[in-house]
Amino acid sequence: MLDLHTHTTYSDGTLEPRALVQAARELGITHMAIADHDSTGGLDEAREAAGPAGMNIIPAVEINTRDSVAVHILGYFLDDKDAAFQESLSKHRGLRNDRARQILEKLSRMGIKISLSDFGDRPDRAALGRPHIADKLKEKGIVFSRQEAFDKYLANGRPAYSDYDGPSPREAIRMILEAGGVPVIAHPGYAVSTELLENLAAEGLAGIEVYYPTHNAEQVRNFLETAKRMDLVVTGGSDYHGPGSGHERLGEIEVPERALEDLLERRRRLFG
Ligand SMILES: [Zn+2]
Ligand SMILES: [Zn+2]
Repeated sequence: MLDLHTHTTYSDGTLEPRALVQAARELGITHMAIADHDSTGGLDEAREAAGPAGMNIIPAVEINTRDSVAVHILGYFLDDKDAAFQESLSKHRGLRNDRARQILEKLSRMGIKISLSDFGDRPDRAALGRPHIADKLKEKGIVFSRQEAFDKYLANGRPAYSDYDGPSPREAIRMILEAGGVPVIAHPGYAVSTELLENLAAEGLAGIEVYYPTHNAEQVRNFLETAKRMDLVVTGGSDYHGPGSGHERLGEIEVPERALEDLLERRRRLFG
């Protein structure tokens, strides 16, 4: 069984890589991509835990772009030891931390005092994202869930929202290609238009995440059609973020086994 989209504590997941591997193994997952936001820091720990468990970890990443409609670009089978790639990721994490600081300032002006030091010891390669701030609001009893924190404070248009000055989708695609990875658009059901997909395909986008927890049958049909028309690899995953995250469907999304072979085949086509 495959899952091509999961997160660990190296971004906004709630499970350490080892615990994620354990949970996936118990559900019968044999091949799992760890696609943390702007970080590949969890891969080595996951690989160490996966080997003895007979599981395969697919190196991946999910790059958040500055586009206002959650345009996230997944990269598969990239070289996570590539120095230039790591340098870019590190720069993006810095921008994300800057944004977190701006959000905390806005909350502070609303009388909600949370400081950066409240987040304690984060694994050094992970960036602070809005879900972390949401968790802190929950911990302080200000909201009941991550979702409520987004609805009341953190979502676009809400009072503590702050723009992210990260890479454009095109820059994210380029970064992944330069690290030898296959760029795939994540969860296109979140308002990604056909026009945008066409533009991104022209920039080198090579795949589309068709199977996803919030995609309904009609969306799946449409995205399969789009994939065929634009010659994109079909992928899918649960976007699991761990217990308490609100994204908890590990092992529940059926992803065709051939997705893996198709990604590898595309990688060969792109890089020889
Ligand atoms: Zn995403
Ligand atoms: Zn994700």
